[in-house]
Amino acid sequence: MTRMIILGPPGAGKGTQASRIAERYGIPAISTGDIFRANIKAETELGQQVKEITASGGLVPDELTNRIVADRLAQPDAQQGFLLDGYPRNLGQVEALDRMLADSGVQLDVVVELVVDSEEVVQRLLKRAEIEGRVDDTEEVIRHRMEVYTEQTAPLSEAYSERGMLTTVDGEGEIDEVTERLNAVLDPIAGT
Ligand code: AMP
Repeated sequence: MTRMIILGPPGAGKGTQASRIAERYGIPAISTGDIFRANIKAETELGQQVKEITASGGLVPDELTNRIVADRLAQPDAQQGFLLDGYPRNLGQVEALDRMLADSGVQLDVVVELVVDSEEVVQRLLKRAEIEGRVDDTEEVIRHRMEVYTEQTAPLSEAYSERGMLTTVDGEGEIDEVTERLNAVLDPIAGT
């Protein structure tokens, strides 16, 4: 039973590592970006609402995002723990998450941050754009997403660090190497 957040800039490899962590500890990986993309693809009402803003690299309004996460965390599979990927993304979402957890009488166990060089992540994102063809992986949108990250999401590291919850992991190098570093840090917390 572990409740975790994975932090890191766009392109740090959060999604890939989140799937591996989730599988290792038997908890769902909850990615707000994936939820938005699935809704856009399925042309749901939510998808219509978030299509433009995600394509431009801006943040979906907190009220909407928080509601989606609250609903997701209320699902049965998330009662055994969860890994949040891409949420929270600003200090308002941190507060909203605090309230959701307090309302359920539970606490986060750990916030793990993947630390990578910003030039490296831009390169990774451009490469991913070629492979996956995501509409928000153009160079201009990537630049905007990095700005949004620096201004709104990067301060979360300090906020969680002040609470003694943050642990950092070097996110550079091969995917498997990064997974091993994560396992080394998370096994003592999440067990295997
Ligand atoms: P990601 O896959 O995490 O990079 O998310 C893709 C896009 O979805 C982001 O650029 C935002 O437009 C939107 N998004 C994902 N998570 C959030 C969030 N927690 N708050 C607001 N917007 C989000």
